[in-house]
Amino acid sequence: MGWLYVVRNAALKEAVFKVGETSRFPTQRVKELSSETGVFGSFELMYYIHVGERKRAEAYAHELLSDSRVSRSKEFFGAPLAQVLQALDETARIFTVVAGTRRKPEPLPQPMLIRSVTCQVCAAEQNVRELLINVRVKCRDCGQEL
Ligand SMILES: [Zn+2]
Repeated sequence: MGWLYVVRNAALKEAVFKVGETSRFPTQRVKELSSETGVFGSFELMYYIHVGERKRAEAYAHELLSDSRVSRSKEFFGAPLAQVLQALDETARIFTVVAGTRRKPEPLPQPMLIRSVTCQVCAAEQNVRELLINVRVKCRDCGQEL
């Protein structure tokens, strides 16, 4: 078992996200990233999932996002955050970590929660992911900030 994570570099103006894998807990990996030489600014952890076969899972997620890859870089993507998160969730569905007993194996639930929110304006219900940083989320029907 391992982890895939999404970070952003707070120093960058554009929405560029790094998607990587680690065998240790993502918060620890992100600390290292920020102290690596040649990296300007610090990385903020936004989202993570656990996966089986983390190297293959990472390759799969990168492939899903390959159209928005930032040139010359393997792990940075200039896609909207929603698209990056969708790619990770899709990867999580495929590279499931199985828990439970041998007779009753069950997929291990992901640590980051999705909650249902009702729009105050149009009453549309939608699922919103709980991220580790504050981001503005808009109603998909009317555009109102949730
Ligand atoms: Zn709405």
